[in-house]
Amino acid sequence: MLFDMTRLLIAIGLLIIFTTVIGLWNWAHLRIVRIRSRHRKWPMEVWNGKATLLYFSTKNCVVCKYQQAKEIEKIRETFSPDLLDIKKLDALEQPELAKLFGVMNVPTTVIIDGQGNLHAFNANLAKAKELTQQITGSIGACEPVRQKAILDPDKTEQVVIVGSGPAGWTAAIYAARAQLAPLVFVGAGDKFMIPGGQLMWTTEVENFPGWPEGIEGPALMEKHQEQALHWGTRVMETDIVNIDASKRPFELTDSDHNLVKAQAIIIATGARARWLGLENEERLARSGGGVSACATCDGPMPIFRNQVVAVIGGGDTALEEALQLTNFASRVHIINITPELTASQVMCDRARDNQKIEFHFNKTVVDVIGEDKVDGLRIHDVSDNTESTMPVKGMFVAIGHIPNTDFVKDIMELDEHGYIVIKKAFRTNTSVDGIFAAGDVIDSNYRQAITSAGTGCMAAMDVERWLQRSHVALV
Ligand SMILES: Cc1cc2nc3c(=O)[nH]c(=O)nc-3n(C[C@H](O)[C@H](O)[C@H](O)COP(=O)(O)OP(=O)(O)OC[C@H]3O[C@@H](n4cnc5c(N)ncnc54)[C@H](O)[C@@H]3O)c2cc1C
Repeated sequence: MLFDMTRLLIAIGLLIIFTTVIGLWNWAHLRIVRIRSRHRKWPMEVWNGKATLLYFSTKNCVVCKYQQAKEIEKIRETFSPDLLDIKKLDALEQPELAKLFGVMNVPTTVIIDGQGNLHAFNANLAKAKELTQQITGSIGACEPVRQKAILDPDKTEQVVIVGSGPAGWTAAIYAARAQLAPLVFVGAGDKFMIPGGQLMWTTEVENFPGWPEGIEGPALMEKHQEQALHWGTRVMETDIVNIDASKRPFELTDSDHNLVKAQAIIIATGARARWLGLENEERLARSGGGVSACATCDGPMPIFRNQVVAVIGGGDTALEEALQLTNFASRVHIINITPELTASQVMCDRARDNQKIEFHFNKTVVDVIGEDKVDGLRIHDVSDNTESTMPVKGMFVAIGHIPNTDFVKDIMELDEHGYIVIKKAFRTNTSVDGIFAAGDVIDSNYRQAITSAGTGCMAAMDVERWLQRSHVALV
């Protein structure tokens, strides 16, 4: 009898635990659904009951203008207007809408389905396209026709160029004029790396020969591209993710799983922004909470207007970012780990002359404070080992770049910082016979557009001579 009672009590206990767990799960689930459906009635100007993609940008956002806007056009061509409304909005001109949708940096894509549920808050248009396909139930009509049309699986390319900064385009111009019919992989693009390369993030380029009054970085890269296309360069809008260097011809795989064969390859993939590596830094950068590596793109956003912000770093990029931010922020703190700036004299002078800029030397950031948005920084003074808090509403990281060599790290020699090792002075040969490299990806010293263009030219000429010497069968 006693034994039966114990069993009954255990069964009742288990039942209570089970129902509690189910109840909690349901509560959490309903809560998620409630949050997602919170704004079933959106303003008529943005949603009229049809699946809608809202694309927030600003006039100053180069990545919006030159790269992401093209992606939006692809989505527009893919989905008929009956299925999907697409609205481009300027986050600065329509701050109420930007606020309503929680937009904190640009570009930001928001998708609302036919029932008014909010499905995405992101800057990743590849994801946006996937979500749109789920929401509209359509895979669309316009798959990347251009890419399929130019790729012939039976063909072996004479030279494939990976990257589309000054090095890549210059290599393409030379290779195309040498009748090598180059195929350039310009990169798929993301928030920190875009076709056209690093100059797409800057405004005036005043030191590229041939432009006495200066030229905007993106405009300069458009000119490079125009010249390369003029001579017959073909383009793929994807990343190269793998190179099989054990095979001849080489086999390259792109981010759309296309396989391309090539006799010779030029790597011109440049570099990307370096982060501090703090947990909260990454979280607040990903959520658009006020951490950024691009003042040109995010500096003009309302959350930074008349606010105190910080720039981390002491080189040219850091000072350029700080000067740009003085147009929007009330104060800009430059936090630099070394006792002196490492930027060029002209940039140091400009920054020192600006009353809004304040310098903090021998200091580094050890944590970013804030739940949804940056509220401050925890600062470590390396000279006396003390810690302090600095209240800021934004943090812009400008501490250098990482060479984009992940996809070749297993097949060729890299230096301790990840730059491709060039085997001989004034040549562009890598440790793999038939693979050449140019631009910032081989150069941790000069890192200029003109030096990149110069080595791009050298790489194309090296390829031409290598192909002639190697007597490889050209198709
Ligand atoms: C804010 C800023 C301002 C600057 N201002 C000047 C200036 O005024 N004057 C000057 O001379 N220099 C300036 N520079 C430096 C100059 O931009 C670089 O030296 C130059 O762009 C390097 O050219 P690159 O072709 O080597 O590489 P990048 O310009 O970095 O281009 C590399 C390209 O490769 C692509 N890519 C990367 N990985 C892959 C992959 N796996 N597959 C396909 N594609 C890939 C990237 O998307 C990118 O488009 C500036 C740099 C910055 C950041």
